[in-house]
Amino acid sequence: MFSHSTPEQSACQVKKIYSNNNIALVWHVKNMLEQQGIEVEMRNHRLYSVVGELPVTECMGEVWVVSALYYQAAERLVSEMELASLPEFDAWVCHACHEKVDGTFAVCWNCQAAPADLAVGASE
Ligand SMILES: [Zn+2]
Repeated sequence: MFSHSTPEQSACQVKKIYSNNNIALVWHVKNMLEQQGIEVEMRNHRLYSVVGELPVTECMGEVWVVSALYYQAAERLVSEMELASLPEFDAWVCHACHEKVDGTFAVCWNCQAAPADLAVGASE
């Protein structure tokens, strides 16, 4: 994926489609667009912080569409996704300790219990 002909050429084609400081959502957008056949790359400000230009606390993730031809289609998919309310990222309440757990965590941040809903099954 690092085989672009010239940096200048790819820079004017690549467009940012999505950014969020919730890295799980950024991954979700990237995977969704790839499943639709749209080539994307993910950029993370933490990479740049290694150089020392940004504070380490800043970890905004970004999804960039590699070809501007797909930008409009990607934009539509992203807005549809946002409207679909992402049930898998909803916050949930731990059945063991009753703490509210952010939807991006697979297990309870407090006691490491798995969400009860997942054990029941994937039926809607
Ligand atoms: Zn818990």
